[in-house]
Amino acid sequence: MIYVDNAATTKMSKTAIHTMTAMMEDTWGNPSSLYSIGQRAKEVLEKARADVASVIGAEPREITFTSGGSEADNQAILTAALLGEKSGKKHIVSSAFEHHAVLHTLNKLEKMGYEITLLDVHENGMIIPSELEAAIREDTCLVTIMTANNEIGTIQPIRELGAICRSRKVLFHTDAVQAVGHIPLNVIEDNIDLLSASAHKFHGPKGVGFLYARKGIRLTNLIEGGAQERGKRAGTENVPGIVSMAEALKEANAGMEKNAEHLVKMRDRLIAGLKEIPHSALNGDAEHRLPGNVNFCFEGIEGESLLLLLDDKGIQASSGSACTSGSLDPSHVLLAIGRVHDVAHGSLRLSIGEDITEADVDYLIKSVKEVVEYLRGFSPIWRDLMAGKKQFIL
Ligand SMILES: *Cc1c(COP(=O)(O)O)cnc(C)c1O
Repeated sequence: MIYVDNAATTKMSKTAIHTMTAMMEDTWGNPSSLYSIGQRAKEVLEKARADVASVIGAEPREITFTSGGSEADNQAILTAALLGEKSGKKHIVSSAFEHHAVLHTLNKLEKMGYEITLLDVHENGMIIPSELEAAIREDTCLVTIMTANNEIGTIQPIRELGAICRSRKVLFHTDAVQAVGHIPLNVIEDNIDLLSASAHKFHGPKGVGFLYARKGIRLTNLIEGGAQERGKRAGTENVPGIVSMAEALKEANAGMEKNAEHLVKMRDRLIAGLKEIPHSALNGDAEHRLPGNVNFCFEGIEGESLLLLLDDKGIQASSGSACTSGSLDPSHVLLAIGRVHDVAHGSLRLSIGEDITEADVDYLIKSVKEVVEYLRGFSPIWRDLMAGKKQFIL
């Protein structure tokens, strides 16, 4: 079995699993309790906070633990929106290809009277900094742009975008769920005010993540209740998950350079192999790209059937985001980079993991080639294209 859907979720590392079970066995107290088993839980919780903070260049008190990336995105955006409202600023800048945790939160704010500007991400899936500069207005309270896209893997010039926001005194949030643990990030150097991350995207457990909020930014609660997380996120802390996440993050960070080097080599071999398929195209910038992301469109086929046939060959892949699979609409990310519906339907995302080998890559190339050719043999669209009744786009 070759698992190439690491953008959807990753397998927990041995360290992360071991840490989690050890916490469940030995450190199961309530961190808010005063007796020793509670205080022991509090200690490991605070150690985890310091560990997570140090990986991204933050201070421990700037880290709030959440149930994952979606919650962190929601809380960051709502916080900035409500802070903006206080000073009469109700305009938010984002991009058309954000994760739905961001886009749907923005939709909700739009219904509440906020104005949203979505920047173009162009054919290569990149934001142009001067276009951000031009989109910021007197009444802009927030810019939210993802560090790396979960479907096409493009990495934005976050530092430059953050600097623009800083100079215009606008809060800058980045959904860094695909980036944390995979590419270097530092909230100070990268001019980030708010950052979302999720453990299950870097070999930690599901259902846990964190929100970085620069000191001085008072978070708005999504969940009211007890005084956990300095009163900004009520509910007894998920101590095993949080500590396991911190261990997974340290591990990912320590191995980052070596992993990235291997992944880039494998990624580029995979891209070169798939490019040989006629009427295909790589989605997203070839250079500013996550080390593990490969995303292609193949003209004249349906991504869904491609996935099913690859599954038969032991390949677990995706046509885009896990959140949209099961829906017949093409990916909003591929539409945002200008792929037309027909082409966007024939997409394949292979998000490779650190343990991938050259032999795996060659098997992937061979299998995708076979399956694409096979499916085109049945495709009425392909028949029309070959007969000249329709124009090839790719
Ligand atoms: C996975 C993902 C999320 C959601 O994170 P969860 O922890 O699953 O809620 C948000 N943004 C991006 C870019 C993601 O890849």
